[in-house]
Amino acid sequence: MHELGLCDAMLKMLDKILAEESAADCKVRRVVLEIGELSGVVPHFMEESWKAVTDRTLYADVQLDICTVPGYADCLDCGAHLRPVQSGFRCPECGGGKLKPASGTDMTIQSIEVWEEE
Ligand SMILES: [Zn+2]
Repeated sequence: MHELGLCDAMLKMLDKILAEESAADCKVRRVVLEIGELSGVVPHFMEESWKAVTDRTLYADVQLDICTVPGYADCLDCGAHLRPVQSGFRCPECGGGKLKPASGTDMTIQSIEVWEEE
């Protein structure tokens, strides 16, 4: 389960972004994450890990919203463009199992909402 590590990395990233934007007085309210279907990241675990990692930090109240991005791959045998999650990680055209991920392999922070403290 590498979601814990990912959440920890996200916290550090938030710290860095806030420091760079000299937004130390700002409070993060919401983080929107995009998780690719082929990234290997499980959204449910991500939510659980986020709670664990932010517990008793200044991000404890931050709402984490997750959007799943469809993942596509190309078949190396026949060149078909397919969605592995739907076809059981095999090519629906030729039945081949040699797939090259084309998209939906990343996890990215889509947006960070902040509000300034009074
Ligand atoms: Zn194929």
